[in-house]
Amino acid sequence: MGIGSTDGIDADWEQEGSEVRAMAENANAINAEPAKSFPELQPATRVLLGPGPSNINSRVMRAMAAPVVGHLDPDFVRVMEDIKKLLRLVFRTANEITFPVSGTGSAGMETALMNLLEEGDEAVIGVNGVFGERMADAAGRLGARVHRVEAEWGRVIEPERIEAALKAANKPKLLGIVHAETSTGALQPVEGLGAMAHRYGALMLLDAVTSLACVPVEIDGWEVDACYSCTQKGLSAPPGLSPVTFSERALAVVRGRKSKCRSWYFDLAMIEKYWGAERVYHHTAPITMNYALYEALRIVNEEGLEGRWRRHRENAAALQAGLGALGLAPAAQEGYRLPQLAVVKIPAGIDDAQVRGELLRNFNIEIAGGLGPFKGKVWRIGTLGESSRREHVTLVLGALETILASMGIEVARGAALAAADRAYREFASA
Ligand SMILES: *Cc1c(COP(=O)(O)O)cnc(C)c1O
Repeated sequence: MGIGSTDGIDADWEQEGSEVRAMAENANAINAEPAKSFPELQPATRVLLGPGPSNINSRVMRAMAAPVVGHLDPDFVRVMEDIKKLLRLVFRTANEITFPVSGTGSAGMETALMNLLEEGDEAVIGVNGVFGERMADAAGRLGARVHRVEAEWGRVIEPERIEAALKAANKPKLLGIVHAETSTGALQPVEGLGAMAHRYGALMLLDAVTSLACVPVEIDGWEVDACYSCTQKGLSAPPGLSPVTFSERALAVVRGRKSKCRSWYFDLAMIEKYWGAERVYHHTAPITMNYALYEALRIVNEEGLEGRWRRHRENAAALQAGLGALGLAPAAQEGYRLPQLAVVKIPAGIDDAQVRGELLRNFNIEIAGGLGPFKGKVWRIGTLGESSRREHVTLVLGALETILASMGIEVARGAALAAADRAYREFASA
């Protein structure tokens, strides 16, 4: 897929089936009526088993009800300092510059690319799904020369091919890799890539948007120089912030820029003065979102990263076993499947939108369809953060069995739940 086709992906997001269209028509009808008819907000309490947002712990929602104070209030400054400490624990880094960018995961991506790349720089970027495509698109927009290292959707990128691209590039400035490719369910091995980038004089940039707090992310251990994530996936807070971290090596590149950062909002040199000791006003931090992130990080810290990774592996083993018993085959390469997001092929003759519509209407469950070339071909079932729970695995397997059976697919009744149960027992005794 070329850069021009990203429009098609955006359109896919918007064409999420008849549900969304009906809602849009409703909205138009409401617009035609007088203001007094605007209804109170009444969103359903869904079981969120898509690729994010994930379900949110009630502690996080309560934290968001805390009083809003000024963005330089000592009470807020204390929260900022603790968020930085907690984020260093989650990223497993000693990096001083570790903080949440105001904006979603993509804002963290722009912050990294805009500060590390200048016009004419060479960047090697792994592309094996939507999010590698997005990174390549964003780097190209900055005037960087992008060397794409592609792999088939669902497969990971071989390190030899990454090395060949670094070698072929002329003084590569950056190697960009997506850790958990949310569009395909593939987990890219990252260990060793940081050292490899450094051998060629490049910085290592990692997209950990769907991996942080679900599977190991070792910023210092893997020699990653810049990394971005989000709040609404593994951390299970609402969308709105993008935790980032930058190594000393990355900061040296930022300080040595020939030109100013092209973005005013994402200029690290300026944001650093607000999040650092100087406390210079840059923009008004989203206070409430930072409360949410703080509480979500406290929850991660209480559970512990190892426990959290284990919980994701356990529920994934059960979910994947159950999906297999339903005859739903995984789309990602064996041995490299994400434990927090199962991407499975839709059986022939089954209507994607109808199944997802029934899951939502009759079972209150959200799962996601495919993007780009995977549209209509896969379902993406996420068990991220708070959503990774045994009762959710059981619920979605039971619901899928019921719906598929009603559509004439031959499923052995009870087989999925039995397979999941067996997987839980095996996991406990392993
Ligand atoms: C979700 C996602 C993003 C984008 O994050 P937003 O919060 O939607 O801006 C980037 N990369 C990956 C791998 C993702 O899954």
